[in-house]
Amino acid sequence: MKKLALFASGNGTNVQQISEYFLNRDGITVDCVVVNKQNIYVIERAKNLGIDCFYFNRNDFYNSDKVLDLMKQRGIDYIILAGFLWLVPENLLKNYDHKIINIHPALLPSYGGKGMYGHHVHEAVIAAKEKQSGITIHYVNEKYDSGDIIFQAKCDIKPTDTPEDLAKSIHILEKTYFPEIIERTIFLQSAIGLAKANIASKKGGPFGAIIVKDGKIIAQGTNTVTSTNDPTAHAEVNAIRNACKQLNDFNLSGCEIYTSCEPCPMCLSAIYWARLDRIYYAAGQNDAAFGGFDDTYIYKEIALDKKDRAIKSEQFLKELGRDPFEQWNNTQDKIKY
Ligand SMILES: [Zn+2]
Repeated sequence: MKKLALFASGNGTNVQQISEYFLNRDGITVDCVVVNKQNIYVIERAKNLGIDCFYFNRNDFYNSDKVLDLMKQRGIDYIILAGFLWLVPENLLKNYDHKIINIHPALLPSYGGKGMYGHHVHEAVIAAKEKQSGITIHYVNEKYDSGDIIFQAKCDIKPTDTPEDLAKSIHILEKTYFPEIIERTIFLQSAIGLAKANIASKKGGPFGAIIVKDGKIIAQGTNTVTSTNDPTAHAEVNAIRNACKQLNDFNLSGCEIYTSCEPCPMCLSAIYWARLDRIYYAAGQNDAAFGGFDDTYIYKEIALDKKDRAIKSEQFLKELGRDPFEQWNNTQDKIKY
């Protein structure tokens, strides 16, 4: 179970949405809300949601370890800025590298930086007669709105739109995407973490995968090719085998796979056979090639005519080969898949 701390400075619409989203998800939970102002509505919201809320002043944030100590004490895994308007202090950045996530109500790098928050952003976008705006979900660093971008979504702006109209469109995007992207980021980071740990364990290649059902990790797998002498023991295949064991089913529909690298053709096939709903991957085929794992070669081979492939195949005993299918079709009490 991963724990989130939500940092807020105002009304707390995002706090509400994120908390509600994770209420019925078992893998991630909102542990607490941290505010830097008193008498703001988000405090009331936290109370109504039954979530602990803590107030810290400027001195606590920048000249003490009080906030960091609270995070450690409560075992916080990720910090989410949900309308938090101060720069995150260095001690938190150091301890939560790529684990502090913010949302900005425009398409960064445009309309970001100091003073660009809330209605100021929408007014600037409308004044510039932009045809589109959107949201940017990004990691937080020592400067305003300049950390690595995780995700963007766009909305169109009509010539007659006011800053208030734009604010409404942005709120819809925030509600639609922010909680889901937080979840996706955390799960994919878990898969990448498995890949890195697998290198140290010397069990196989730098690959990790997890399988999620209804917001909960039900199985994981890492590459164990070299330690088990099994060339098919890729992270995704191992994760699929573990998930099927866990669910006691050969069909994983309703599940999603998060994998540290784009699946190779074998794993992609296994994912299709397992009927998984969706694939999220971090590194691409080119990155795998960079590490000496040339999946691209097999993808190219598949696209070739059979006679042009490196491994030759030929058909033989065609007539007899049909017999098992005749028998299968004539069998009444079989388990179809
Ligand atoms: Zn594979």
